[in-house]
Amino acid sequence: RRSQLANFKNETTSSSDGKHPIIAANIGTLDDLDGAIENGAEGIGLFRTEFLYMDSNHLPTEDEQFNVYKTVLEKMDHKPVIIRTADIGGDKDLPYLDVPKEANPFLGYRAIRMSLDKPEIFRTQLRALLRASAFGNLSIMFPMITTINELKKAKSILDQERIKLIREKVRVKPIRIGIMVEVPAAAILADQFANEVDFMSIGTNDLIQYIMAADRGNRMVSYLYQPYNPAVLRLVKHIIDACHDNNLPAYMCGEMAGDQMAIPILVGMGLNEFSMSASSILKSRALIKHLDSREMVTLANKAVTMASTTEEVTAFIHQATNSQ
Ligand code: PEP
Ligand code: MG
Repeated sequence: RRSQLANFKNETTSSSDGKHPIIAANIGTLDDLDGAIENGAEGIGLFRTEFLYMDSNHLPTEDEQFNVYKTVLEKMDHKPVIIRTADIGGDKDLPYLDVPKEANPFLGYRAIRMSLDKPEIFRTQLRALLRASAFGNLSIMFPMITTINELKKAKSILDQERIKLIREKVRVKPIRIGIMVEVPAAAILADQFANEVDFMSIGTNDLIQYIMAADRGNRMVSYLYQPYNPAVLRLVKHIIDACHDNNLPAYMCGEMAGDQMAIPILVGMGLNEFSMSASSILKSRALIKHLDSREMVTLANKAVTMASTTEEVTAFIHQATNSQ
């Protein structure tokens, strides 16, 4: 089976009726990058840069970061690479950073919230990214964006650093800017965010926990962590529609993007990029090849109108996709 799947390695992803969503990889380290390439990733949909901070005993310097970003871009050989600015703070404790303990770290000081509060750390990362942009096809994505104001601040800091580098005669290429949509407030206002970005990437790992008010790591409430709950499906569809209404591509980089049961629905919603762990790429490409996107539109439209029980939706998806 594995060897059969290997045939899909060098193919572009295609549905049976010729739609071409991209299958990209989520990576966190340079080791993951090799796995992504071996499994035929058409891009990097999410580079979690936290490891640079977590695996170090000091704040990574601009040059240390630049070398890693440049390596990723060069190894991907001009395929699209989305690098996410650091999602640290909250429950990800850095011993060399003095961040107070919080009662609700997932609702607290994390990701872009910390970046905007510690702009010197943020600027260092952005400068490293801007310099690396010359070596490939780079997009930058901001995590945990909640308000338009946060996004505008982040973009303005990026612009300031770009201008400084250009004055220093450093080569900087145009970079696409996007946000992770993983906070319900941003998801609901996706149509407004669309005016400020080049793409959106749905972070279902967090989005589901915030929609369902159920900690993604807490087994006591894991029964509420429901990717197929129609509340989740409707909000995901709302985000994708808002992107398409504004001529933007819609991506997903949460676990749901590599979930074999969710993929048919997401194909039906017209998702443009599925970013997943490398081990899911080939089987997902094989699955999509057998899906007719027009039939999946019907499937997706039905799923979002179902009653709010995950059991009902999952039974429905099973039945619909097995009879293909
Ligand atoms: C997500 O929230 O879906 C996501 C991809 O980000 P992370 O898992 O790193 O929080
Ligand atoms: Mg997240």
